[in-house]
Amino acid sequence: MGKSDKTSKKIIKSYKKEISLLENQLTEKEETISKLKMLIDVNSVITSSLDKKRVLRTILDQTKKLIGCLKSSILLVDKETNQLIFEVLTNEEDEKFLSDIRLNIGEGIAGMVWEHGQPILVEDAQKDARFSEKADKKSDFITTSIIAVPLIANGKIIGVMEAINKVDGSFFHHLDLELFQNISVQAAVAIQNASLYDMAISDGKTQLFIHRYFQVRLDEELKRVVRYGGFLSLVMFDLDHFKSINDTYGHQFGDEVLIKVANVIKKNCRTSDVPSRFGGEEFAIMLTETNKEGAKIFGEKIRKVIEELEIEYNGKKIKVTISGGITSFPDDNPKDIQEFIEMADKSLYVSKKEGRNKITGYSPEMANEELEK
Ligand code: GH3
Ligand code: MG
Ligand code: MG
Repeated sequence: MGKSDKTSKKIIKSYKKEISLLENQLTEKEETISKLKMLIDVNSVITSSLDKKRVLRTILDQTKKLIGCLKSSILLVDKETNQLIFEVLTNEEDEKFLSDIRLNIGEGIAGMVWEHGQPILVEDAQKDARFSEKADKKSDFITTSIIAVPLIANGKIIGVMEAINKVDGSFFHHLDLELFQNISVQAAVAIQNASLYDMAISDGKTQLFIHRYFQVRLDEELKRVVRYGGFLSLVMFDLDHFKSINDTYGHQFGDEVLIKVANVIKKNCRTSDVPSRFGGEEFAIMLTETNKEGAKIFGEKIRKVIEELEIEYNGKKIKVTISGGITSFPDDNPKDIQEFIEMADKSLYVSKKEGRNKITGYSPEMANEELEK
């Protein structure tokens, strides 16, 4: 081999080394760019949606990709019980198993993060005495590595965000934690915005939706079924002789009755239904994908449960009844929500006229009914 051959081989070798170095740098840069893009995605969802569950799930999905973890979850502090509960998880299956788990302050890694307000990185949970096996046992899973960070809004800890097990089987490191903390800051803002929105659309006394929100949703839904087909029902309730309940037992007891009735309604609604406090002691419920028969079954069920309800007043058991009116698309073919609501009102009026504690479905002969109760 000549001298020039040796030199050119050396040059080629050094070029190859250079190229492979550049290639590595390129993949690192690509990875960084793709991670930054994902962070931007997370941010745009957070600022554009107020649906808490949807926002949180998107955050967790993106987190899973960014950190390369097997599972991640958000636990929120339940103000009533002062415990941590699982609010959302990447794996919807797990939500069923873990929804009834309650963690006290200081309990498990999440409980410690809540107590001290500091992030925790656990390399191997199985060797860490702070780790609580509650969730693993319920979901038949083995946790190895964990990162958990506090969710802080207005200086207060509102929950904890966790990532569980690296997909590649390795342990989490401090860079994962740093990235995770960045996301958690945005997640806390999103949770707070969504909570404020929830407050704005809920009635303070009954926690049902407010009238205005109900009308917007009813309008959207009616337009949708008119255009694309499907069923939509509207149920209107009004408590019977409520004035005399107030007069006999006082306004405060009346309020208690309203809350109890609202809870019965809420309990019997599906997540796609929209139960609202329509007026003082009137409730309107939009039942999606429900025909008139289905709405009648719903109305009857509520009427019966209320009829059997006993509410205590100074050791005495007080009973109340409710009347209802029902109207449906396409059966009653309302032209807009004003007419839809009027039809339900007229049916309710018929229930009142015919003796109360009754549910009536709309029929065309009610069209001329006067609405003076
Ligand atoms: P009807 O069977 O015909 O419905 O008789 P009613 O006495 O219930 O008559 P109406 O529906 O007109 O009465 C409404 C009463 O509800 C009057 C009002 O004092 C009471 N009310 C409205 N809002 C509230 C509330 O927030 N709390 C309490 N305690 N009472 C309320
Ligand atoms: Mg009324
Ligand atoms: Mg009434």
